[in-house]
Amino acid sequence: MGINIIKRTSTHNTSYKAGRQLKFIVIHYTAGTTSKPGTAANTAAYFATTDRQASADFICDDANIVQYNPDIKNRYCWAVGGSKYSGTRGGSKYGICTNVNSISIEICSSNKKGKVTATNDANWYFTDAVVNNARELTKYLMSTYNIPAANVIRHWDVTGKACPGVAGWIIDAGSESKWNEFKASLTGSSTPSDATHGKIVNEDWIWKFLSSKGVNDYVVAGIMGNLYAESGLRTNNLQNTYESVLGMNDDKYTDAVDNGTYKNFANDGAGYGLCQWTYPTRKQGLLDYAKKTGRSIADLQVQGDWLWIELSRDYPGTLERIKKATTVDGASTVFLIEFERPANMSDEVRKLRSSYGEAIYNRHHVESKPTTPATNTFKPYTVKVTADSLNVRSGPGTGYATTAKIKNGDVYTIIEESSGTGASKWGKLKSGAGWVSLDYCTKL
Ligand SMILES: [Zn+2]
Repeated sequence: MGINIIKRTSTHNTSYKAGRQLKFIVIHYTAGTTSKPGTAANTAAYFATTDRQASADFICDDANIVQYNPDIKNRYCWAVGGSKYSGTRGGSKYGICTNVNSISIEICSSNKKGKVTATNDANWYFTDAVVNNARELTKYLMSTYNIPAANVIRHWDVTGKACPGVAGWIIDAGSESKWNEFKASLTGSSTPSDATHGKIVNEDWIWKFLSSKGVNDYVVAGIMGNLYAESGLRTNNLQNTYESVLGMNDDKYTDAVDNGTYKNFANDGAGYGLCQWTYPTRKQGLLDYAKKTGRSIADLQVQGDWLWIELSRDYPGTLERIKKATTVDGASTVFLIEFERPANMSDEVRKLRSSYGEAIYNRHHVESKPTTPATNTFKPYTVKVTADSLNVRSGPGTGYATTAKIKNGDVYTIIEESSGTGASKWGKLKSGAGWVSLDYCTKL
């Protein structure tokens, strides 16, 4: 996982549904009066112990992202059910988005009065910290489950309930400007800020590795944007849904494969590593290559090499096409459609991946410095001497020796200018005689 999620899980107030199809992410507010650290965990504990018939997959407070649903892929929470409200402008996704096909995020709300006031009134707000956590979580879930930004919606969109009933978040509360801002930030060009040490190191390494393969920076960034979407650039990343299925986290799984105690790596169907390799032959190839080189399956060099072996040996046409890319988006799209081939290759997914690639490009691409100095654009011009007698010096400054004297009315061509002591500007004579103070010349 690319972000830090604390598990406070329980199956209480949830239902089992094997392999549910995840299509929507639904945003809620808790209608609680604070989002201080610990509030999210308390909310999870509340779901786990009451018969309120309500729950949510995740809860965010100012400090933490808490997961309540222990098995996102095979269980669903009770968050958006019930009948459609009347007298609101919401509910456009009623019957389309359901508990079964959605992941719900509760954002811990705050209230200026410190108590529960009327829904939608101006006392309700979200702190920046809690919105940032909700954004990171949403981006992470979008990427993990291939959910496009268009399918990030509010509880209000499903049933018309005033949720989140916070000023700026639904039109029934007067404006949805804050919601629009939140939505726009999901597809913005910045990658999620889970800039852990490991990720940054990996990002630098992968950039250099791919650059060394003789492809242009658009190609490097286009590939990397996809890898980011797949794995957060983390080599030991085991597809999240399989962590609970297999009962192993990223590290345990990696260790068990490396030391041979887990033998089903190739055939377990779990995405793994930078590319989230899933197909048996591709995973087997990665495993064989790691063994051959005596390294871990999570080794950066192993995964970089294996990616390049696959691309050049098994996808030569793709490599040829991607090499011709003249934009990050172009490279990213070829890599998405021909190499990664996730279940969801919608326009939204394509755009999200391209935006990751663009951000990476901007961090690493170095503009080639102009090699032509500014003086090369200098055009020679003629001047007339205005002093009775003007010294010509061997260099641009009164510190240089006088080599000749020229007189009032003489016309010369200046082929170079320079600053120097004793004059506001010095000019070099075309004749090669030396430099004169331009303070005693008039340009013709
Ligand atoms: Zn709600």
